[in-house]
Amino acid sequence: MSDVNLRIPGPTPLPPSVREAQTRDMINHRGPEFAAIQAEIVDGLKKFLLTEQDVLLLTASGTGGLEAAVVNTLSPGERVLSVSIGYFGERLRTIAQTFGADIVPLDYTWGKAADPDDIAAALKANPDVTTVLVTHNDTSTGVTNPLKDIAAVVKGAGKLLVVDAISSAGCIEMRTDEWGLDVVVTGSQKGWMAPPGVAFIAMSQAAWAAYEKAKMPRFYFDLKKHKKAQGDGSTPWTPAVSVFYAIQEGMRLLQAEGLENTLARHQRLADKTRQGVQAMGLKLFADPRYASNTVTSVLPPEGMNANDLRKLVKKNHNVVLAGAQGALDGKVFRIGHLGYVTDEDIDATLAALKTELAALAVQA
Ligand SMILES: *Cc1c(COP(=O)(O)O)cnc(C)c1O
Repeated sequence: MSDVNLRIPGPTPLPPSVREAQTRDMINHRGPEFAAIQAEIVDGLKKFLLTEQDVLLLTASGTGGLEAAVVNTLSPGERVLSVSIGYFGERLRTIAQTFGADIVPLDYTWGKAADPDDIAAALKANPDVTTVLVTHNDTSTGVTNPLKDIAAVVKGAGKLLVVDAISSAGCIEMRTDEWGLDVVVTGSQKGWMAPPGVAFIAMSQAAWAAYEKAKMPRFYFDLKKHKKAQGDGSTPWTPAVSVFYAIQEGMRLLQAEGLENTLARHQRLADKTRQGVQAMGLKLFADPRYASNTVTSVLPPEGMNANDLRKLVKKNHNVVLAGAQGALDGKVFRIGHLGYVTDEDIDATLAALKTELAALAVQA
């Protein structure tokens, strides 16, 4: 472990072998070595996303993957139900809006999860909606939506389902094909034990059918170009080769652990985090029924700015906690526990928080 305990919800710390992998020299991205690396990554992704469908690798941050999802399935003026429970739900909506989608908003108070019954009602009230946008795990609030139930409603109504699974895929149960998820997006720096730089996007048959009709402008993220290039063992544009090396190694570590064990580790460390902060008298921000297994949002003690507490924990213990976005800035701090994370990392985080809270209580 490095000196810093980076407990933000991505980018996450890297295993030593992943750090090592990305220092290798360049190769021809149109040659057989690159083809083998990409094929191995795609194969590992399919096992972890539980899909037999196409999984494409885009050199971009996760947001690039979200933009790809939107512009490859929608047309300007198309009616879209945008379900938002936080900052990242808003981002996906803004992308769709930017390219001309006609948004039907369904919003929840931050900290709450979406209710599948509300989605059913919204689809009934807006029969011209073709597509539903939803965040699986909103990293801003630490809330995981009941995606299986949401998918049942959306697919039951015959709509296309686009999922931002950037901070949940590979960490929190998500059965892409079984649940009928049409487009699933995630990013290399979240659950995949790899650095930022590559977005992953899974596309169902129905998503490809939507592609054929979709008229939003696209070039760099035109997924047919990516599918064709992947078939030829390459990518349409020069990929982030070093990041691919790292993802390949991270994927090997994850495959060795196995999906069930990886999910169980995230569950266990999330439980430990939630119990630990509550034992210090701190309150959790997220609705406990939907609390995330990849990031825990915490309210600081009454009257204390969350960012002041974060600064102390960083200065005195080298533990880096995440702040909060938008209206939650200063009111909430977040503890990331996804990807390459161990019991020791969480124990050290909780110990640092406990020490600083005790010191502040003495001063008060
Ligand atoms: C991190 C994250 C994003 C944004 O990903 P970038 O790689 O920063 O572009 C989007 N949605 C969710 C849920 C995330 O956690």
